[in-house]
Amino acid sequence: MRKKTTPKLRIKNLPRFLTLSAMSLILIVMIIMSLFFLMTKMTELFNTQKQILQTSSAANSAESNAPKAETATVNNNNNPSANTATATNDADPLADIKSRLRSGDTAGIKVVFLTFDDGPSENTDELLDMLNEYDAKGTFFTTLHDNDNAKAMYRRIVDEGHTLANHTSSHDYGLYNNPDAFFADVDELDQYQKTITGQTQTSHVFRFPGGSTNSNEACVQGLVDRGWNYSDWNVSSGDGCADPPSSDVIAQMIIEGCRENDVSVVLSHAELKDSSRAAMPIVIETLQQEGYTFLSMEKDYNYPRHLEV
Ligand SMILES: [Zn+2]
Repeated sequence: MRKKTTPKLRIKNLPRFLTLSAMSLILIVMIIMSLFFLMTKMTELFNTQKQILQTSSAANSAESNAPKAETATVNNNNNPSANTATATNDADPLADIKSRLRSGDTAGIKVVFLTFDDGPSENTDELLDMLNEYDAKGTFFTTLHDNDNAKAMYRRIVDEGHTLANHTSSHDYGLYNNPDAFFADVDELDQYQKTITGQTQTSHVFRFPGGSTNSNEACVQGLVDRGWNYSDWNVSSGDGCADPPSSDVIAQMIIEGCRENDVSVVLSHAELKDSSRAAMPIVIETLQQEGYTFLSMEKDYNYPRHLEV
């Protein structure tokens, strides 16, 4: 009779030593290893995805900037008026005022041209400092002065953005009787200014010594025909007086004169007396606060003229 035995729990074909507990342990180890492997792979995958996303984001960012730049370029190219406006505003905030001075549409424009005749003089340095302090521009109708200070002043006027204008070489009223001699006198100063400043082209802004009515039609017409513009004045600083009033009185006179015009041209002389020099900062400060702009002259603006041709 066969003896009934209790069957052992064992898996067929496996070595005898592999008991249930050993199998369980191996299974647990395998599961842990699998989990560890999976986690490692998932971490790698995650990092790879992260890198891809970062790269993609950077690329998108670069692209998003690029199209903007391209769009801006395209817009500028396709919209000349916007382009011009932007460029003009960046380059010269006074472009609109200057344009109106050229066209003659000057109603309410509030522009003042300070002009200083007959220099450069020993006062020019101080005048330039004063103008620069207020960010105001001036126009210097010079004659020919052959000394070191004058040469330095011709250069300073140009270098600092003011207008170096022509008032003949000799300031000789007698030349009006001989137009050719008069034109030669103008040309002599023109050439001298070029030599001193290194400019290839001068302003071609002119004032007749004594004003255009002190000259004659032949000289005025001849000068215009030679490519010059000329300006007289509509406000006088009165600096020619032998016994000038106080700086406050002079300043008030100039200020009231300027308030009467859309475009004022103020006549002063390089040999300004002390009271006239002291009046200038008062004039500039007061009128700037009232919205006036102090500009230097250019050839193609419209100016007050006493003798038209
Ligand atoms: Zn003069």
